[in-house]
Amino acid sequence: KAKAEKRGSYVVFGEGFEQELQQRLKTTIELRHCIELNELRIEYQPQFCLKTKEMSGVEALVRWHHQGQLISPVVFIPIAEKSGLIITIGAWILEQACRQQVSWFQETGRSLRVAVNVSVRQLVDPGFLNTLDSILSRTGIDPVQLELEITESMMMNDQSQMILILQAIQDRGVTIAIDDFGTGYSSLKYLQELPVNRLKIDRTFVSSMSASVKDQQLVKLMIEMGHLVDLTLIAEGVEEESEGELLSTLGCDEAQGYFYSRPQPANIITQMLTG
Ligand code: C2E
Ligand code: MG
Ligand code: MG
Ligand code: MG
Repeated sequence: KAKAEKRGSYVVFGEGFEQELQQRLKTTIELRHCIELNELRIEYQPQFCLKTKEMSGVEALVRWHHQGQLISPVVFIPIAEKSGLIITIGAWILEQACRQQVSWFQETGRSLRVAVNVSVRQLVDPGFLNTLDSILSRTGIDPVQLELEITESMMMNDQSQMILILQAIQDRGVTIAIDDFGTGYSSLKYLQELPVNRLKIDRTFVSSMSASVKDQQLVKLMIEMGHLVDLTLIAEGVEEESEGELLSTLGCDEAQGYFYSRPQPANIITQMLTG
């Protein structure tokens, strides 16, 4: 942890800061080889339709197994973004997830929607649409079964550029979900203008909803607001049965969370689909 001490208008960094910089540099260098060393794995967390209770899709979540440790995407994705490595790593993840979707279809006959998290750094890269097109054609996935998740706070950057990119993605049949919805600053007007299909209600609302009437009303409002502009709603971070029931009562369409299932290796999803 960095030790920053404020002295007057100066910020004096202690040894911890230097150590952290060095650690980040080391991680960046090691991250460069994660694909060729076969250190990345993708887990898939099931998403369920609250009406039918059926699995409606999965979210792909990357894991980095490095030198005997499991490094969280919360730690290495920001480093991959800053260093630009997210372009190659992100393309690799997207391709794996699309391949897996096609395998599930071939093995089980079920065409499952697969959602892939995409960083804004990837999206605004001039090569992104080309990458997407080659992945779509190489894997043969039905584009309608692919969803890209973009974090709400990242959507704020350059709205007109963002609208063009999202529109181009939708033109290919691929759908868009806004991740961590409610933590950014989306206005109703903005939501109506953006080419998006789904809102993912952030788990902070889901976990506070049961204890706070205000938060419950907020979730209800998000669902109504989303439906008003023809968006589908999914809640993330459902850990209790009662939360799922409440969300269902409030009109939420889908849910995911530890209560239903933790993120799983692909073969476990295959078992869930066939079992
Ligand atoms: P996210 O996209 O919002 O993903 C949801 C996170 O919540 C995941 O953490 C998931 O494992 C966790 N989660 C799921 N259900 C529950 C629950 O019931 N309770 C709690 N407490 N947590 C739950 P994970 O896998 O560590 O990923 C963290 C973040 O890292 C993701 O947040 C996403 O922003 C990023 N990330 C993960 N994989 C990728 C990727 O392939 N590409 C990019 N660009 N970002 C990724
Ligand atoms: Mg996500
Ligand atoms: Mg999320
Ligand atoms: Mg979240």
